[in-house]
Amino acid sequence: MAFRVDLFQARGWDEPRAQHWAERLRRRDADLDKRHICMECRHFRTWMSLDRETKQPVRDWQCQKNEALLTDVLQRCPQFSWETPKQ
Ligand code: SF4
Repeated sequence: MAFRVDLFQARGWDEPRAQHWAERLRRRDADLDKRHICMECRHFRTWMSLDRETKQPVRDWQCQKNEALLTDVLQRCPQFSWETPKQ
């Protein structure tokens, strides 16, 4: 569960949202539900850029496989691949 919370926070979610989803995915796993969220996929990419108008930092997200990226919805994506801890 700690890996997921850390991963989701590194990808831009605040701690309560990361904890909520880590717990939700723990229950998903217990239910043998095979759906995923993009936040746990190795093809998910995020970066910070500056908003052109406000000049404030904003987070951008992208799927490297050009699939429909869904951060908060369990889905069955044919390109999903687990993100794993870095060694
Ligand atoms: S490959 Fe599928 S699950 Fe992975 S980030 Fe892209 S849309 Fe999401």
